[in-house]
Amino acid sequence: MGAEQMSLDSLAVHAGRADLTALGVHVPPIDLSSTYPLPDIEAGGEAYDQMAGGHPRKEGQTPVYQRLWSPTVARFEEALASLEGAESAVAFASGMAALSATLLARVAQGRPHVVAVRPLYGGSDHVLATGLLGTRVTWARAEEVASALEEDTGLVIVETPANPTLDLVDLRALAEQAGEVPLLVDNTFATPVLQRPLEHGASIVLHSVTKFLGGHGDVLGGVVATTEELAVQIRPVRAITGGNLHPLSAYLAHRGLQTLPVRMRAQQDTAQVVANWLTTHADVARVHYPGVEGGDPLGLVGTQMTGPGALLAIDLGSYERAAKVATSCRLFIHAVSLGGVDSLIQHPAALTHRPVADDAKPSRGILRLSIGLESAEDLIADLEQALTAAS
Ligand SMILES: *Cc1c(COP(=O)(O)O)cnc(C)c1O
Repeated sequence: MGAEQMSLDSLAVHAGRADLTALGVHVPPIDLSSTYPLPDIEAGGEAYDQMAGGHPRKEGQTPVYQRLWSPTVARFEEALASLEGAESAVAFASGMAALSATLLARVAQGRPHVVAVRPLYGGSDHVLATGLLGTRVTWARAEEVASALEEDTGLVIVETPANPTLDLVDLRALAEQAGEVPLLVDNTFATPVLQRPLEHGASIVLHSVTKFLGGHGDVLGGVVATTEELAVQIRPVRAITGGNLHPLSAYLAHRGLQTLPVRMRAQQDTAQVVANWLTTHADVARVHYPGVEGGDPLGLVGTQMTGPGALLAIDLGSYERAAKVATSCRLFIHAVSLGGVDSLIQHPAALTHRPVADDAKPSRGILRLSIGLESAEDLIADLEQALTAAS
């Protein structure tokens, strides 16, 4: 069966593995070579030019050197590209390495201006606000993007659902505003299971692989899924700056994709139950979740997204109360990051969004919850005792 006909669940299990049976193995071999034997000088030089120039390795060509190409990483890239419906994917050592390489690739094209819609992940906000990589940013509301474009705008950046307030942005409307400028969507929170931004007009999808894709809190990685035209601009930056995903991490990320649809649905179902319960709790001023009343004002769940996801945020009204709840949880682990099989709780204003300018920081009463695979009853009991301890 061709990849185009397969459901996402089947693709998740089989993508990037089509050659395994012919190889006589059941799971992908892990190739840890940092360098590769060269057949001869000419062929080695040709392969070098091919990959340093940003093109994929040709069939039978030597990878030359792991910073240029890794067969194990390429398998994960192929799988992720097919889940996102993209021509190509380029994997990195972290989500921030993926974003940095994408920004540098646009700067190298003479298009250093970025229009960004807040809120973004704290690190993304920081790299744009500081201009550390030679970009120049204009912050714009989603409906003001068209008027923020300049002659040298190389990228429009948005995150939906956004971090940490789970605001949803209409990608179709945003892509229209961006026009010819590539729209980059950080799809870390939704994953291709719930949202495939390329189908809604985006040109680049970015993931922190560290989160849902890896799914078990043991991989640091990032990836962009995009057109081959843009991938060719981005790969040389990876080859030069060396922010490559390690093959062992690529193996784990690729394995993580196999259970992604099942994990996503189970974690989402539990998140909905926990969110519903939280809306009834007197000490919770507001629940930010696309699956509760008022959480999806544009009606994007069911059209742009297939479901509200596994992350939610609660506003407890004050920093003191939020801090007390975060540190009183026993089952929820008080830690940054998200998207794993275990539930995490953290305080965005003090941690993940620490580098964000004060006027754009999340409210200090907000906690972000990443719902894992524990039972809803146990998670609710934990939150109940933590809320009681803080009242
Ligand atoms: C974690 C995260 C990133 C950064 O990814 P790293 O793998 O930590 O570098 C970017 N965007 C979002 C939405 C994230 O949650």
